[in-house]
Amino acid sequence: MSETHFDVIVIGAGITGLAAAKHAVKSGLATASIEMMMFGGLVINVNELDPAPPGEATSGTDLASNLMMEISELGVQNLSETVTALAREGEDLVVTTDAGLHRARAVIVASGARLKRLGIPGESELENRGVSQCADCDGPMYKDQDVVVIGGGDSALQEALVLANFCRRVHLVHRRDRFRAQQHFVDDLSHHDNIVTHWNTVAEKIEGSDGVEAVVLKDNTNGKIETLPCNGFFAYVGLEPVCDFVPSEVSRDPLGALKVDASLHTPMAGVYAAGAVRAGYGGRLEHALSDAQTAAQGVIATLK
Ligand code: NAP
Repeated sequence: MSETHFDVIVIGAGITGLAAAKHAVKSGLATASIEMMMFGGLVINVNELDPAPPGEATSGTDLASNLMMEISELGVQNLSETVTALAREGEDLVVTTDAGLHRARAVIVASGARLKRLGIPGESELENRGVSQCADCDGPMYKDQDVVVIGGGDSALQEALVLANFCRRVHLVHRRDRFRAQQHFVDDLSHHDNIVTHWNTVAEKIEGSDGVEAVVLKDNTNGKIETLPCNGFFAYVGLEPVCDFVPSEVSRDPLGALKVDASLHTPMAGVYAAGAVRAGYGGRLEHALSDAQTAAQGVIATLK
């Protein structure tokens, strides 16, 4: 097993992690970035960033690619590995991965979150056969067809608006009678007469053999069941933090996100948490970037 030593290890190469690594390396710290999947995180699924960040990038992929190029040129060591454990050994923090051990004086956990599943019958059985969680990637496959989107937050409305550009009809199904999404997304719905909102309604089951053929909906106000024919199903019902490798001494909030203080330091000495993995995260791109800066500043102040 290989073993390496850095000043700071950033776990996760989504926008928060990439930006944190950039701050750290620019301050002269020997920095590693560890990512188990493709860099960029959830934002690479967004073709049109809304609002667009300062700079030239208008898509999530461009933003992530630009950051990745910058940190690579600045000397960040990018490791494509899966982190399995994080522990303190004397002065060192030890990050164990599927490829070896890495030691550091500080760690920024920026491992983000994954989209939650609804957990209804048919969802896993029909995954990638009509069940999707990427409107920008899969939307064109549903050209002139009907799809169902579940949720009432920013993700559901943003993705419903993307799908409305391709699909014949987008059924936006929300369990309550008002959205929690930002008002500009709510306002934009009215510009698409092919988006039909189903209030106080939940999805009970996805039907189909080779692909999605229908979704069974229940009206919560009267218990009425409706089978709605459709070809695509997109659930955007929130996020779950990815932090199984963080020891239990770092307490979690009820959603499983890591608790931090105002400088984004966790209760584990030298370990910071930033972005969607930490409790109280704001959720927008601007929050990802400011978290990256706050966590990196904490590390820099401690190590320099
Ligand atoms: P979210 O804000 O947690 O919203 C999840 C939605 O799913 C809520 O409307 C919730 O209903 C509904 N829901 C949850 N569990 C459900 C269930 N079991 N059955 C049916 N509906 C269920 O998640 P999100 O929309 O993915 O957003 C996550 C974070 O990312 C937020 O902070 C958001 O602001 C941010 N975000 C920002 C942008 C942007 O700025 N462009 C874009 C996307 C996401 P209730 O409303 O009843 O709770």
